[in-house]
Amino acid sequence: MIGASGPAPAFGGVTVGDGAVIAAGSGRPAVRMQGVTAGYGARIALEAVDLEIGAGSLLAVIGPNGAGKSTLLKVIGGLLEPRSGTVEVLGGPPGAEARRVAYVPQAEAVDWQFPVTVEEVVMMGRIPRIGILRRPAAADHAAVADALATVNMTEASRRQIGALSGGQRRRVFLARAIASDPDVYLLDEPVTGVDATTQEDLMDVLEAEARQGKTVVATTHDLACAAHRFQQAVLINRRIVAAGPANLILDQRLLAETYGGHVLVVPGLPNGSVLLDDAHHHDESGGESHFHEELGR
Ligand code: ADP
Ligand code: MG
Repeated sequence: MIGASGPAPAFGGVTVGDGAVIAAGSGRPAVRMQGVTAGYGARIALEAVDLEIGAGSLLAVIGPNGAGKSTLLKVIGGLLEPRSGTVEVLGGPPGAEARRVAYVPQAEAVDWQFPVTVEEVVMMGRIPRIGILRRPAAADHAAVADALATVNMTEASRRQIGALSGGQRRRVFLARAIASDPDVYLLDEPVTGVDATTQEDLMDVLEAEARQGKTVVATTHDLACAAHRFQQAVLINRRIVAAGPANLILDQRLLAETYGGHVLVVPGLPNGSVLLDDAHHHDESGGESHFHEELGR
């Protein structure tokens, strides 16, 4: 289990190889996956995934384009039915506790031209609690205001979502998740393509949520951010390559195994960590690479 606390497991907390399970922590896991295989049509995106994520974890999911990171979040969120294996979220099947799980899709998956204000987007996070036929109550408006303040977007509450920058949109989508008051956050690339200030601000918010016992699972391409700001990391490439404390997992050998070579050493990262030249050899979907942007920073 990936846990925020508890006794250190064997091998310094790192589990390597197929069927990796981190056995740390003592509390109930927020997520438990056993032998999960999932995909689309003939394509297998995830294979034989065993993973337990302890409540209160701040977990980065790392891997090359097409590795199955988004698929993992969709399976946990109940948006994609696995072909085989079992998934438990907050003690029940995925989707059973939908109100307690906030899923934020990749920015690319959102129609930003939809005419809606920032405030309205964040209020959508309250709908499962309000019900679609009732009007928001004072408590709902207060939750929206609080969430906007948390991500520093109060001033922009009446603006159209389409008029915002990429970083501001990320803030608003996180606010929508916060307003839903979840126990589990599933965030797909929450800090990809945003400026450094926004990245730090968003990570501060996620860290605070995890400290309150919320479970945060976020995919990211940014290895420096994963190493510096996340407690735990899972390296995946269809299968789990390794899982454990972020500073231990993000080492050259494990990353090279995850990304299939093409590594580039960048000084200043922990453990002599690397940023990677993605080399596009894992992605048949034409998904974009973010590594060159990272290298340019
Ligand atoms: P990642 O988020 O790590 O880039 P994904 O989970 O999005 O990877 O994708 C894993 C694999 O599944 C890739 O090969 C991708 O092309 C494929 N895939 C993802 N979504 C779909 C879909 N809706 N239909 C068909 N194939 C998909
Ligand atoms: Mg993805």
